[in-house]
This record gives sequence, structure tokens and C-alpha cells, in this order.
Amino acid sequence: MYNFKSWIKVQHFDNTKFMFIEKNINNSDKKGFIEIICGSMFSGKTEELIRRLKRAKIAKQRVEIFKPAVDIRYDENDVVSHDEHSIKSTPVASASEILFYSGDADVIGIDEAQFFDQELVDVCNKLANSGIRVIVAGLDMDYLGNPFGPIPSLLATAEYVTKVHAICMECGGLAQHSYRTVTDDKLVLLGETDRYEPLCRSCFQKKMKNETKK
Ligand SMILES: [Zn+2]
Repeated sequence: MYNFKSWIKVQHFDNTKFMFIEKNINNSDKKGFIEIICGSMFSGKTEELIRRLKRAKIAKQRVEIFKPAVDIRYDENDVVSHDEHSIKSTPVASASEILFYSGDADVIGIDEAQFFDQELVDVCNKLANSGIRVIVAGLDMDYLGNPFGPIPSLLATAEYVTKVHAICMECGGLAQHSYRTVTDDKLVLLGETDRYEPLCRSCFQKKMKNETKK
């Protein structure tokens, strides 16, 4: 006879064994790896990046944080999340500058990674290969729902991937899209967070359909 109760028991696994939280925060054996934190706007990517970097600092790790120089909202030298937790960062014009400025860091954080070009993939791999823990945060999709810049390739080469979600402004479900509420064909509208709203798949599809009808 089919035993439903024992089936439930088998399915009830310990989530912490499957979900990546923080591997090897004490990087004393110097094995490098890449972690990606991706998702839509307002999904808490930067907050999660800052949380991991602050914990690495508490563990006495040498931490360096970079962001693309194009991202100049809020403060020139800080990685700032929307809820104003911040941490000092170095703006760089290109991904290769990260190699130049990485110094003797144990941990390197990179925010708004979608604004770098494909070179970032090579840079992150070089850093990880040399024993550095690399934590990358970025948008995985642009406002049209297409994979964004170097993020897809980074997802493929990273050891650990965390996808975070915002809340859909239409239905209250989990959102993965950054829907642009204004008409503009530019891929990047910087510092214009009031021009986007997070939407789930079905609400995003509905709004995109309505747009094409207009
Ligand atoms: Zn929705």
C-alpha cells in the first residue's frame, strides 16, 4: 500500500544543506570561488552583497568593493542599497581595473555588475583562480526581460548562485522583472528607480502585451 506519511518524511529535507548561505567565510586555505547575487530591481541584491561583505570583514578578511563608474547615483564612492546601508567602494571605468586595484584582498565585491562588459567574466575567473572569494551582484535581466550583459556568462561559471526576488507591484507575488514605467529605448536609465516597478512573470507579460497594443 502507498504510504503517504513516509513519502512526506522523505521529501522533508533540511533546506540549509541545499541552499547556499556562506561557504567558507574564513578563507584561510585560499581557495577562490565566485558567488553571484542576481535578480530584478528592488530585490535586495545590494543589501545581500553588503551583508556578506560586512561578515567577511568581521572575520578579519581583507575586503575590496568595486562598482562601474557609470553608476553614480547617491554617492560616488559608496555601494549604496535602496535602504541606505552602505559600504565604501572604488568606482572603476572597466573590469580590468578591478585586477589592477585588487591588491592583497581576500574578498572582492562587485556591485551593479550588469554595466560591465564581457571582460568581467575573465576578470572574475582570474581573481577566483588566484584564491580570492569574488561576490558579484547584478541585474540578471534588462527591462525587456532579456539576459543582461556579462551576468548570464557569470552565472554559468560561478560556484554559487543566489537569485533574490522583489514583490510584484500588481499581485503581491514574487517578482523577477524590472518593468519600465516610462517610454525610453535606452537600455540603461541610471538613478531612475522611480521609473521601474518589479513585476512577476504573468503581470509583466500582461503589461508588455498592453504596450504593444498601444
Ligand atoms: Zn504579479
